[in-house]
Amino acid sequence: MNGFFKVPVPVNEPVLNYAPGSAERKALKEAIEEARSKVLDIPMYIGGAEIKSGNTMDLRPPHDHQHLLGKFHVSDASHVTQAIDAALAAKPKWEALSWEQRAAIFLKAAELIAGPYRAKLNAATMVGQSKNAYQAEIDSACEIIDFLRFNVYFMSQIYAEQPQSAKGIWNRIEYRPLEGFVYALTPFNFTAIAGNLPASAAMMGNVVVWKPSNTQVYSANVLMEIFIEAGVPAGVINLIYPSGPVAAEVIFSHPDFAGIHFTGSTAVFQSIWKTIGNNIHRYKTYPRIVGETGGKDFIIAHKSADVNAVVTALLRGSFEYQGQKCSAASRAYIPSNMWEEVKGKLVSEMKTFSIGPVEDFRNFVNAVIDEKSFDKLVNYIEGAKKDASCEIIAGGTYDKSKGWFIDPTIIVTSNPKYTTMCEELFGPVLTLYVYPENDFEATLDLLDSTSEYALTGAVLSQDRYAIELATWKLRNSAGNFYINDKPTGAVVGQQPFGGARASGTNDKAGAMINLMRWVSLRTIKETFVPPHRYEYDFMKEA
Ligand code: NAD
Repeated sequence: MNGFFKVPVPVNEPVLNYAPGSAERKALKEAIEEARSKVLDIPMYIGGAEIKSGNTMDLRPPHDHQHLLGKFHVSDASHVTQAIDAALAAKPKWEALSWEQRAAIFLKAAELIAGPYRAKLNAATMVGQSKNAYQAEIDSACEIIDFLRFNVYFMSQIYAEQPQSAKGIWNRIEYRPLEGFVYALTPFNFTAIAGNLPASAAMMGNVVVWKPSNTQVYSANVLMEIFIEAGVPAGVINLIYPSGPVAAEVIFSHPDFAGIHFTGSTAVFQSIWKTIGNNIHRYKTYPRIVGETGGKDFIIAHKSADVNAVVTALLRGSFEYQGQKCSAASRAYIPSNMWEEVKGKLVSEMKTFSIGPVEDFRNFVNAVIDEKSFDKLVNYIEGAKKDASCEIIAGGTYDKSKGWFIDPTIIVTSNPKYTTMCEELFGPVLTLYVYPENDFEATLDLLDSTSEYALTGAVLSQDRYAIELATWKLRNSAGNFYINDKPTGAVVGQQPFGGARASGTNDKAGAMINLMRWVSLRTIKETFVPPHRYEYDFMKEA
């Protein structure tokens, strides 16, 4: 096909509001009912075939753990090998396909999610991962749609980026997919991330083995249905459900392993990196290692801050989706001059939080993902209750009789290095330290040296000098830094997302820099009239 094709210029997908009486609310309620009325039998997808191992695990709503949504077929090592083989078999045709055809497939996937699949994918995210309607909409509708559309646009920009050519020659850059297969290892907390990690690598011409988190399989299955309907050919994305270590054993010892696209916890990423390092001599190419990992995201208020803005940033930033966003605020530094007012407002606002299942749209807070997470959070809360440096001013209670419900909790500590000021808890628990109002600069240093992570953070202030000081002093403390806002809610195309230090390789999901990791450049120089003798002019006698 001849033509320098231009892809549609992306704009962010509008967030629907699901207000009473709206068409989207009706469609979503019906999709939730439909999901709850069936027990799905979810297969693996390898080379276009649906594979069932017969060894199944249950899928249940975190807020209603007695209800069965479905079962999925656990993969063993042989399925991992089959998935790699299927990916490698699909590779020659896929990498030879014109880029605009790949673009069209993923633009179609975006369109399917924006339209006919919107309610189904949101409902799956709601019941499977316990997100309320709004949290599902901004994740499994808007963010994944934006990832797909913006990445297609960035892909076309990458391909258009070409070197200069001198007289008599033509220089070209070819953006080859990686030689081998890419492993997409995805987390539970965002359906959009789960879809984007395999899709972004595949879009750039790669073939992918995709392993989601066990607690996200329910919506991963819908994503796969969409990819297939959009025209992703058999074998290009293979969806399997082995345990992490079973997959690791096969994948990281395979000579064609070419890269990992990971989002999840820091400990898992570090162990993967070590395994890859130990196996480096086995691979045909140096694998790309891209990982977005944990966080200990902060909010610091200056004594000049607007109190209501501080309170809202804390409430929304810490407790939406039960604090299970990698960007969720989980430590805060509040100046003494405003503490009593902030405290009063936090406590009274939190009394108005409605907590319960996602099917009841009035609930702001739902359940945490599973029993393991519930037990871990309870341990931290009970630990704080016993510690002399801590006081729990809100929450501190929990109930697992029906679902994994942890009441949003605020721990106030006099020890700025208390465990819950340093470690990632990944739940609705905020730890807060009140600092002397005139010690802002020293508190910035304290904040910067308290945690190994550097994902997101926010400063609230009405004093420009304080904002500049915080922006400079905290330049390495967060990959996404917010001024007078909460540290969550990054939008694709607007705030490229990713952190440094122990929070990841900072390859910014949904940005051009991320897509560059999934290509290996070939420089092509063509000389039109090649020289016919080896001697240079300087070698001649005058
Ligand atoms: P996780 O690390 O437990 O799991 C991520 C994936 O790795 C899953 O597919 C899981 O099955 C697999 N896995 C688990 N243990 C493994 C092992 N030993 N070997 C190989 N694979 C293994 O993470 P999660 O609980 O699904 O997600 C929450 C974490 O993800 C938090 O730490 C959060 O901060 C992080 N996160 C980061 C970002 C970001 O952009 N930085 C975004 C979302 C989530």
